[in-house]
Amino acid sequence: MRISRLSETDESLFAGHQIRPELSFVVPAFNEENNIAETIRRIDQEARKLVGSFEIIIVDDGSSDQTFQKSKDAGGGVPLRLLRLSRNFGKEQAIMAGLEASKGMAVVILDADLQEPLCHLRVMLQHRAEGYDVVYAVRAHRNDESMLKRLLTRIFYKLLNLGSEADIPADARDFRLMDRKVVQELCNLPERNRFMKGLYGWVGFRSKAVPIELEPRNAGKSSFGLGGLLKHGLTGMTSFTSWPLRIWTLIGLGIAALSIIYGFWIIVKTMIFGVDVPGWSTLAVAVLLLGGIQLISIGVLGEYLARVFTEVKGRPGFIVAETHPRIQVQQ
Ligand code: UDP
Ligand code: MG
Repeated sequence: MRISRLSETDESLFAGHQIRPELSFVVPAFNEENNIAETIRRIDQEARKLVGSFEIIIVDDGSSDQTFQKSKDAGGGVPLRLLRLSRNFGKEQAIMAGLEASKGMAVVILDADLQEPLCHLRVMLQHRAEGYDVVYAVRAHRNDESMLKRLLTRIFYKLLNLGSEADIPADARDFRLMDRKVVQELCNLPERNRFMKGLYGWVGFRSKAVPIELEPRNAGKSSFGLGGLLKHGLTGMTSFTSWPLRIWTLIGLGIAALSIIYGFWIIVKTMIFGVDVPGWSTLAVAVLLLGGIQLISIGVLGEYLARVFTEVKGRPGFIVAETHPRIQVQQ
């Protein structure tokens, strides 16, 4: 018989015979060589004031610059663990790699460019002490963004939340503090196409928003251009909505109903006014319009099918090429 004061779950919590730190910081970094040392220094400085034990996990998401080396060099005296992914898998996967490697009783996700002020950590920890399992940052405003981007973001989140079972807040950031049990649930989800902002909402738990003002990037430039955002948006839509698949039944019914009415109208018109000159323009418009609508609907189907395809293939979401120091990462 095993003599242990720890239950199975407690033991798995202390996997690797390491006592869990109070806090893990997960920092995805892609080509952040000019930021990473300063980011590590600031997290270390701030965390020492707030908690007794912590770890910083930098996930180098296949950077082509010196991000990994610079992180290593910044490690002196800092409880730092590094993961280098085998190529660029994208921010969501980098976050997952960090979450899976994290051991803390709570985890903070943080961008590597210091856009999110660390001074909010204190409030986040206070809310955690009050019993919240998730404390997430929301942008207090988007004044730095163009009108068009703000409008598109608003429309995107409205469409995303249409019929969605969990609320996905529009201005939430990845910057958040999550209890270990929330992190565990996120890690247990089997899907590979990950839209983290949706998944945070989907797993639920007691959550609290903290409004923050974003600072400008410390150095370098944003990795998310219009193309990147569109791709990200598509992942979100296909992961969290099914209405784009369903509306085609309604559209089809609407068009069929209109066609029947139009057909009746043609019969009545022919009976009253006799045979007209054939309406080639009406025909051309109808054929083109219907062709377009059918192609759009097939395109939407294709998007969802593509997601199903990647899920079915079952490839891992990311591959860890190197860790420092060497650690075991579940995939
Ligand atoms: N990032 C990443 N992989 C990528 C793109 C970005 O790990 O493929 C990281 C990046 O290093 C940063 C965070 O994700 O720490 C946010 O990226 P960025 O600042 O470029 O985006 P923005 O703040 O403009 O949304
Ligand atoms: Mg940024």
